[in-house]
Amino acid sequence: MTWFRKRKYTVLKPTEKKRVDIPDGLWHKCQQCLHILLARDYEKNLWVCPKCNFHDRVSGWDRIGITFDPESFIADEDILDPTDPLEFFDTMNYMDRLVSYQKKTGLKDAVITGIAKCGGYKVVAGVMEFNFAGGSMGSVVGEKITRAFERSLKERLPIVIICASGGARMQEGILSLMQMAKTSMAIARLNEAKIPYITVLTHPTTAGVMASYASLGDVIIAEPNALIGFAGPRVIQQTINQILPKGFQRSEFVRDHGFIDIVTNRKDLRNTMINLLSFFAPWAREKEEVSSQSQ
Ligand SMILES: [Zn+2]
Repeated sequence: MTWFRKRKYTVLKPTEKKRVDIPDGLWHKCQQCLHILLARDYEKNLWVCPKCNFHDRVSGWDRIGITFDPESFIADEDILDPTDPLEFFDTMNYMDRLVSYQKKTGLKDAVITGIAKCGGYKVVAGVMEFNFAGGSMGSVVGEKITRAFERSLKERLPIVIICASGGARMQEGILSLMQMAKTSMAIARLNEAKIPYITVLTHPTTAGVMASYASLGDVIIAEPNALIGFAGPRVIQQTINQILPKGFQRSEFVRDHGFIDIVTNRKDLRNTMINLLSFFAPWAREKEEVSSQSQ
């Protein structure tokens, strides 16, 4: 008997590596938790990571598609063109920048307005396009938003604005800042007429937009962990020379301090809006039913 036996080693054959070509855009990697999933599944999940609940940015038209009733959105005619009164130049001309954004998004400026239905409730709608100059508010955005408020007042329809913006567009100087006053005045008139205004704050909603129409909704809804605030946390930290609390300027923090009413996951946003409309604007549905019956 041998005390030691020679071990038999099995030589593992290296597995044949087959090169699989994956077409671009087939997979999506979550920028927060790095989870990888099929782009198709990501889209089905409304651009929200199923693992960490990261709510990714959504383009204006996709947002319209997931928020309002199918094929109910009728966009306003895009007749307002942005101008360059300051002949602004940084690393390139402002007008050239505008042209590149217009080519990229197919829009003349950073907001889409129109009329839509949400769960059968007729609403005036405005959806900001972050891909156009960071959703910044220049004179065209301010004017289109104001006209949407005026339409809401004239037709006595509730209004929903879905915000995504870095603030006022500095390339237009004072003209962009004036939009804050103009949009706020239009909301004051809606308020007097008791017409409900719902704002949805998505990541990010900051600065001049937050300091005007984004924060003036009768009901303010936000998506989870969206950056909501006026100046950025770094600027505040340097100004007050104090360390800011955890979660500062995120939707949940802002809600807990009384500035936002509801934080809701994107998949529940539409139902939340329908519930609110049924409570605050039941006539918007009745009106529609009556008019469709009479046709
Ligand atoms: Zn994730």
